[in-house]
Amino acid sequence: MSTFSIAIVGAGPAGYFAAQALQNLQTDQLKFKIDMIEKLPTPWGLVRSGVAPDHPKIKTVSKVFEKIATTVGFQLFCNVELGKDISTDELTSSYDAVIIATGSSIGRKLNIPGENLRGSLSAADFVPWYNAHPDYVNVEVPLDTDTAVVIGAGNVAMDVARMLALEPRELDITDTALHALDALHNSKIRTVHVFGRRGPEHAAFTSPELRELPKLEHTNVVIDKEEIKEAIKRAKSAGEIPKDVKSNLDAMMAIAINLGANHERTLNFHFLASPIEIKGEGKVEEIIFAVNKVQDGKAVQTEETFAVKAGLFVSAIGYESEPVEGIPYSNGKVENVEGRVSGTNIYVVGWAKRGPSGVIGTNKSDSATVIEHLVSDLREPKMNNGIINLLKERGVVHISQGNWEKLNSAEVAAGSSSGKPRIKFIDRKEMLGFADSLRP
Ligand code: NAP
Repeated sequence: MSTFSIAIVGAGPAGYFAAQALQNLQTDQLKFKIDMIEKLPTPWGLVRSGVAPDHPKIKTVSKVFEKIATTVGFQLFCNVELGKDISTDELTSSYDAVIIATGSSIGRKLNIPGENLRGSLSAADFVPWYNAHPDYVNVEVPLDTDTAVVIGAGNVAMDVARMLALEPRELDITDTALHALDALHNSKIRTVHVFGRRGPEHAAFTSPELRELPKLEHTNVVIDKEEIKEAIKRAKSAGEIPKDVKSNLDAMMAIAINLGANHERTLNFHFLASPIEIKGEGKVEEIIFAVNKVQDGKAVQTEETFAVKAGLFVSAIGYESEPVEGIPYSNGKVENVEGRVSGTNIYVVGWAKRGPSGVIGTNKSDSATVIEHLVSDLREPKMNNGIINLLKERGVVHISQGNWEKLNSAEVAAGSSSGKPRIKFIDRKEMLGFADSLRP
């Protein structure tokens, strides 16, 4: 029997699905010892710090993660950072294969004047702020303004806009970070404008997300019917409308024709406009947009411009991976061919491999394909103990699966009296209080 040791760096969906794919390939003759390494004190990646708190159903995938984590041969090492506590060389020499599943956490920039003003944020900062990511607790989110502008026509822009536009009481029974919940309760924002640079027919929203908007109980959702009619015309003139585009346009038309109620809060969707400048004295006050036309599927700016007064500006236009020493990166992701990093025993899965696209489930098949390549590359197992001794020598405190289960239970218990699924810890020291094994 051969037992291969595999390190997975990053405890998000792609990492867990890679572990599951390895577990699924085990036989009496082939076994895997899997060490999952995560820089945060807690696992689950985007399921914990990305998925919007008002989408609890999406988070139920964590049950699958826990099943994977409690399968024989799996060990969790949270609070261990690649490039700081352990090097890439140490991992590649200690394990038969190393799988990078570190995602993309850096928000893409628009590179327009005024982007660094107070009140201009990336979704890459705003989303982890409301989701209690310990590194983003102190992000400054000025909500003392009546209007917010969100850039991007994808599901992240939709999450951001919904979080800003919904009545905060709707979040009281969610796991929104307490600091964010408090700030949102005191928010003066009543109007949120979302801008897509192309037309509705090119929006990256998915239709289940669009279809849930009319269910917001305290927010008007506004889309201009004429914009959707024009989009349908343009889409028809390009040939048969693809099913997903049709479903999106139908969902947007249903919103557009809904007369709706007259709530205090409004979420507006606009298309064919790109921000070209953010103006203000020391803080965001006004956004200048160029009107776009679409040529060959691309947004092209016209001479026409307009201005929107707003005190908060959030761009949600995609992400790039944060580079780790010893691993080649280009175009915001790890350089790879079908998940293989050439000339190494390193593999890559998830957003770090393909860029920031797809829903959580996309990672299941994607990781499984990379694992097939990895397993076909394996030869003789290296006999070693992984990183446990190195961590001990360095006095690195790690959160094991058992420690995490206690931390998890404590969060769930803290939320139960107020009807929340959990109250997340935000203080690393408090979280590390659950670690027992490696305290120096
Ligand atoms: P996305 O789906 O790729 O959307 C990015 C949006 O930003 C697109 O509308 C894009 O427009 C726009 N954009 C890019 N560069 C721009 C620029 N310079 N100026 C103006 N607009 C620009 O990315 P995402 O929203 O970050 O989401 C990432 C992935 O996570 C997606 O697959 C998404 O479905 C998934 N996700 C899913 C959920 C869910 O299931 N509920 C929630 C959140 C995220 P163009 O199309 O013109 O490039």
